[in-house]
Amino acid sequence: MVIETKNRGQTHKLGKKIGGALKDGEIVAFYGPLGAGKTTLIQGIAEGFGVKDYVTSPTFTLINEYQGKAFPLYHIDLYRLEDINEIDDLGIDEYFLKDGVCLIEWAEKMEESLPKDVIKIKIKYISEDERHIWLSSELQARLK
Ligand code: ADP
Ligand code: MG
Repeated sequence: MVIETKNRGQTHKLGKKIGGALKDGEIVAFYGPLGAGKTTLIQGIAEGFGVKDYVTSPTFTLINEYQGKAFPLYHIDLYRLEDINEIDDLGIDEYFLKDGVCLIEWAEKMEESLPKDVIKIKIKYISEDERHIWLSSELQARLK
């Protein structure tokens, strides 16, 4: 099933719900073109997670760390990743093993290296304000 959002606020609100449903140790991969709303959704997730800081995409570092209510949140944005070998240099695998949740934008850039049990979220750009958001079935079931 696809969830339709008609503006930025609805995507943020959906993120908040998702943030409340994620469990420690989980890894979420986000797919969708530039401007789809991945960061917007992640900002909502962070709020649902109890992160007080304002979440922006990590541009130079590729990884930002936030403290949630119960466990940390790692926001990984691979937009600027040029070479798959950088994945090793960044030590992303180590983040997967840490306590906390990892959220990965442009996850397709490390598709082969994603853990098997990764949760997937795909965002499709429909029109300026409209998006279709697809959640992997396990996550979707939790939101009900
Ligand atoms: P991405 O991280 O995928 O590149 P962003 O979240 O940074 O995307 O940007 C999404 C842009 O689209 C924002 O400027 C946001 O205000 C706008 N927007 C318009 N409608 C929506 C919607 N329904 N959901 C999410 N973002 C929307
Ligand atoms: Mg982004």
